[in-house]
Amino acid sequence: MRVIERISDLKAVIRSQKASGKTIGFVPTMGYLHEGHLSLVKASREENDFTIMSIFVNPTQFGPNEDFEKYPRNMEKDTSLAESVGADLIFSPSVSEMYPEGYKTYVDVEKITEVLCGKSRPGHFKGVTTVVTKLFNIVEPDKAYFGQKDAQQVVVISKMVKDLNMNIEIVMCPIVRESDGLAMSSRNTYLSMGERQEAVILSKSLFEAEEKIKNGERDPELLISFLRQKIETVNFAKIDYIEITDMANLNKLEEIHGKILIALAVKFGKTRLIDNVIVEV
Ligand code: AMP
Repeated sequence: MRVIERISDLKAVIRSQKASGKTIGFVPTMGYLHEGHLSLVKASREENDFTIMSIFVNPTQFGPNEDFEKYPRNMEKDTSLAESVGADLIFSPSVSEMYPEGYKTYVDVEKITEVLCGKSRPGHFKGVTTVVTKLFNIVEPDKAYFGQKDAQQVVVISKMVKDLNMNIEIVMCPIVRESDGLAMSSRNTYLSMGERQEAVILSKSLFEAEEKIKNGERDPELLISFLRQKIETVNFAKIDYIEITDMANLNKLEEIHGKILIALAVKFGKTRLIDNVIVEV
């Protein structure tokens, strides 16, 4: 499997794949791969002739006090994992390849980037939409694969693709979890043993909230306070937000109906974890 670092080299490969009529599936990641990332490659392989994974820790989506420098990286292991599930190519550009000196252009989706994670991570989604636009322009995929783990990201990117008339189908894949329910994340590696044990409370309480909805609960406030109380029972958890919104515009709901998102972000020590469930009633 080829690993390409230069945009011009990748464009040459894309040109020849397209010339021979191949469809291209694309999986953007920041690396330090786990089964969640690999599930996206598997989905892409099923639906496309040629699957490209990008590995790029994108500085513009990290805030000044966030973990850009310390974000875990392991290119050697990532390459063999990506190869093991049949990725055809890894694109791993340097920061200066993506943002050469004098770089000036950003893509910004309004409103839906200011709620949920956007509230506590100002500028984060502007970095995401900018790098994803650049990657889409470089890779020119037919389909791009994203995880429900970052549900707001999928909503924001889908909106951007629609608003900017990009000819790309966005596919959202289910959250892959550890056997105890914790959503897989590259950042789980930061957790101490105690934090790791306690972090299971996130998925556990989300599943219980989902069950309550299935049993007829329709009051978002009651569900949010149920979640809050459950999560506050563990020592290390510090809640950033717990919200229930619609899936289309991420607006807070007065009543549970339609396709809804229950999303939360909770800090365990210095590690901020996110998780969610999507429920349809
Ligand atoms: P990241 O490397 O964290 O930027 O994630 C790259 C892609 O993998 C994003 O589309 C994520 O939503 C997706 N992803 C991360 N964790 C998971 C997971 N546990 N299950 C499914 N997809 C995931």
